Amino acid sequence: MQLIFPSLNKTWTWSLLLFLMVMGIGCKQEPRTSSTTTTETPSYQPPSFQMDSAYQYVTDQVAFGSRVPGSEAHEACKDWIVAKLTSFGLNVIQQTFPAKLYTGTAVTGTNIIATINPDQNKRILLGAHWDSRFMAEQDVDESTRNQPILGADDGASGVGVLLEIARLLAQSSIPLGVDIILFDVEDQGERSGATETWCLGAQYWSRDPHVPGYMAKYGILLDMVGAHDAEFPVEDLSNIPDYNAQVAGHVSAIYLKVWRLAQQMGKGNLFVKRYVVG
Ligand SMILES: [Zn+2]
Repeated sequence: MQLIFPSLNKTWTWSLLLFLMVMGIGCKQEPRTSSTTTTETPSYQPPSFQMDSAYQYVTDQVAFGSRVPGSEAHEACKDWIVAKLTSFGLNVIQQTFPAKLYTGTAVTGTNIIATINPDQNKRILLGAHWDSRFMAEQDVDESTRNQPILGADDGASGVGVLLEIARLLAQSSIPLGVDIILFDVEDQGERSGATETWCLGAQYWSRDPHVPGYMAKYGILLDMVGAHDAEFPVEDLSNIPDYNAQVAGHVSAIYLKVWRLAQQMGKGNLFVKRYVVG
C-alpha cells in the first residue's frame, strides 16, 4: 500500500483501516472554548464498512481476467468500474493518458477519479491501482513466470475496498471532501529497474491533476490489502531517496493517527508497530 502526495510525488505504505480513519477525521470537532455556548454540534455517524460488499467487488474484477493495459479484460474492467462508481451517484472522470512501458510497448492508460463533496475545501485523497501486472516473474512456479498475474490482492483488493468506501460515502453526509483515484499502468514497471518505470498513471496525474492546482490534506493509497493474515507495518520514511524532514513529519503524524486508532479498535494485530524499509 502506498500513499501519494500529488504535489510531492512521493509514496508511502498505508493500510486497510483508513476508512475508519477517514470517519474519525470527519467526526473530529474543535474543543469548545465558550462557556456560554449550549448548542450541540451533531456528530457524524460513520456508516459501517461491509466486508462482503468489498469482497464481491474484488471477485467482480478478477472475473474479467488479468487487467493488463492494452487487453480486452482491461478495457472491460475499466467500463465496469466507471459504471459502478456512476451507479453510486458520483461524478466520475476518466483521465486517459499515453504511456510507454519499459518494454517499449505503447498503451493508453486511464485514471478513474470519483469525487465526493466536490464543494468542500477540506479534502483527502484515497487511491489504489486497478491494472494488474503483465508478468508473474516472482511466482514460485517457474513455469508461469511469463504469464500475467490475476491480481486479486495486487490491484483488485485496494479497488474493492475503495469501491465500498465510495458506495458508503456517496450516501452519507460526511463533512469532508474525498477524491477517490484509481490509477492505471502502475504495476508494469521493470523489476529492479528504474523506479520511474512504475506508477505511470500516478506520475501522469501528479503532473496534470484532474483539478488544476489540486491539493489534498493528504492522500492514502491502498495496494495489496487483501492477503490472508496481512500485516501492516509502518514504513521507515528516512529511506525515501529525496527525504524531506518537513514532509516526513507530516506523514508520520498521519501514520501515528491511523495506527493509534487501529490500536484503540483492537486491530493492533494487523497494524503492527514495526518499521520496515520502504
Ligand atoms: Zn500493486
